[in-house]
Amino acid sequence: MTQTRTSRSGDTITAEDEQRILDTITRWLDRDVKDQVSALEHADAYPYEMVEQMKALGLFGATIGVAYGGLGLPSATYARIVTTISEVWMSLTGIFNSHLIMAAAVERYGTPEQKDRLLPRFASGELRGGIALTEPDCGTDLQAIRTSAVRDGDDYVINGTKTWISNGIEGDCVALLVKTDTDIEPRHKGMSLFLAQKGPGFSVGRKLKKLGYKGIDSAELIFDDYHISADDLIGGLPGQGFYQTLGGLELGRINVAARGVGVANAALKDATAYAQIRHTMGKPIGQHQAIQIKLGDMATRCQAARLLVEDAAGAYDRGERCDMEAGMAKLFASEAAMENAAECMRIHGAYGYSTELPVERYYRDAPLMCIGEGTNEMQRIIIARQLMERNPV
Ligand SMILES: Cc1cc2nc3c(=O)[nH]c(=O)nc-3n(C[C@H](O)[C@H](O)[C@H](O)COP(=O)(O)OP(=O)(O)OC[C@H]3O[C@@H](n4cnc5c(N)ncnc54)[C@H](O)[C@@H]3O)c2cc1C
Repeated sequence: MTQTRTSRSGDTITAEDEQRILDTITRWLDRDVKDQVSALEHADAYPYEMVEQMKALGLFGATIGVAYGGLGLPSATYARIVTTISEVWMSLTGIFNSHLIMAAAVERYGTPEQKDRLLPRFASGELRGGIALTEPDCGTDLQAIRTSAVRDGDDYVINGTKTWISNGIEGDCVALLVKTDTDIEPRHKGMSLFLAQKGPGFSVGRKLKKLGYKGIDSAELIFDDYHISADDLIGGLPGQGFYQTLGGLELGRINVAARGVGVANAALKDATAYAQIRHTMGKPIGQHQAIQIKLGDMATRCQAARLLVEDAAGAYDRGERCDMEAGMAKLFASEAAMENAAECMRIHGAYGYSTELPVERYYRDAPLMCIGEGTNEMQRIIIARQLMERNPV
């Protein structure tokens, strides 16, 4: 019997088709990406050509339903794509990951009119964007945001500043979290999500400088009396934004976890190869037990992280609540990336510290996965709370 996977929106894919997609991605990475990464990364240059290639591959519509022109991939298949690309250049996945979280908010919670109007343009990559939640004064405590939207006839008027927004410069739009009621308690009841497209009153403040995650733009966004139609309030009703955001973050955490697996795998592959070619004391360093122990731990972390991602993605595709599973995958895979990157550097000795090899990039990229989509401290808290909620006494 043919094995199939089904996405949350009901689209199915066979194991053979999934493999075909992964093979196509691998061929693209080998042909058009691998040799370019180092130059783009060190120049912190946006990969315009690769973005056009990713459009042609359908990546901007990877998880958008087939009915709206997307590939309709289950998150389990999508996670494998993200891992495969992250093994070569993690930054590339950020260009379509946060875009797809924005798209998922519209697909899951938008009105029929919003879905018809926006999703086909998201899927083709004609309209690209991300999610704008974080502000200069708050990231974890999203209920403390200060960006406000005040009703004005058929419009809302938005004022405030967002920061660290991926695709903020190169993208056309964002799913924008605001307060439509600043007095209501609990605070989350006053939060709403808009699909905001660039225009008068919506400007880019500055490009932010980062340790790693180069190539992709991270920006400050400024909203100064920005008028937006009430038709762009996702779902049409104010006060739903916090729940809509949390729903999107489940997928976001699975994506970040899949990136972590990619970086952890890349570090393992490079370390395994180097351990066989570098000699000390008359034999390859891979023959020394100190190095074997490192490789053993690194490989085990990769396998465990991959299985946690598959588990979380499976639960997400079945439409189950999966904040605990996504949190575990994100926590473990990002820490695996950190540890493997550090061990890979140690195994490479001085060469691991050189900017001529990708090892130092893994070391700079890995910490982002511990911070983005909810810090790992918060993941531990989410896991513990879910544990007690699911096991009451
Ligand atoms: C490269 C990059 C890209 C990003 N892209 C985006 C994007 O596209 N869109 C977007 O909206 N945001 C984005 N972010 C922001 C990111 O989501 C936030 O940085 C993250 O949520 C943490 O928020 P914070 O930085 O304000 O830290 P804070 O919330 O200030 O937390 C500081 C520290 O306190 C800990 N802490 C906070 N509260 C608690 C608590 N209750 N219990 C225990 N510990 C706690 C945290 O774990 C952390 O260690 C990006 C960040 C980076 C670095």
